Amino acid sequence: KISKRLMGIFEQIGNGHRVADIGSDHALLPVYLIQSGKSPFVIAGELNPGPLAAARKQVRDAGLSSRIDVREGNGLSVLSAGEVDAITIAGMGGGLIRDILEEGLRQGKLEGVTELVLQPNVGEDLVRRWLVKENWYLTGEQIIEEDGKTYEILHAVRSDRAKELNDELYNPDRIQLNDGGKLSQEWLYTLGPWLVSEPVEVWKKKWESELCKLEKICIKLSESDAAESREKEAAFREEIRQIREVLDCLP
Ligand code: SAM
Repeated sequence: KISKRLMGIFEQIGNGHRVADIGSDHALLPVYLIQSGKSPFVIAGELNPGPLAAARKQVRDAGLSSRIDVREGNGLSVLSAGEVDAITIAGMGGGLIRDILEEGLRQGKLEGVTELVLQPNVGEDLVRRWLVKENWYLTGEQIIEEDGKTYEILHAVRSDRAKELNDELYNPDRIQLNDGGKLSQEWLYTLGPWLVSEPVEVWKKKWESELCKLEKICIKLSESDAAESREKEAAFREEIRQIREVLDCLP
């Protein structure tokens, strides 16, 4: 049995795909991919010794050493071109996921890969921007809640029409706010172009809680007399105002 978050990631992966799970830690996702019959072969990549040992043990205990190759190394460096169809990178910051993809691209490790399933813990906008820059089309986004935390799962594919499709997806005119106002493209990257189009309760809750955090920061800043604090507070207040406006104006 895997967690709701890992199950969300699992569900996005295409049937029959050979998968590389980068930063696999306990290798729970690779084991489930094989046991469920979804994947014929999985590579579990890990940089750090503790998680690497945990992954090796998990795979050995499950008796799946012939189907799951646990490899030690940084990011996509553990792969050879053409070895897998899909790559999953989950449970890290968006900046790190982007850097791993960028470095892998430079090394030619994305050749032959047709699907990316990415679950950044923070900095989702950085991942979305990288996908657009490199002509991957974001086909969908999920948001799930587990143990009081929310997680966004991004699914992207290679497409010859990626540029055209992304232009449409990130076109701010696509989102109609109730008050007739417009969302900036910046906000589409931050809020998620699919998530904002079909807002679900968990997503709204996430942003309400972000607003609470920003309010608390403003209160702290207002206790200081420094001019710098005034400026920061004003910037945060403006951010709060914009998020509020979007939340209030969505269906
Ligand atoms: N992917 C699993 C999940 O979602 O449950 C584990 C997430 S865990 C929080 C992040 C893992 O990524 C850690 O085990 C860490 O050692 C590994 N990691 C961090 N940077 C990495 C890199 N550059 N290359 C490979 N693994 C990395």
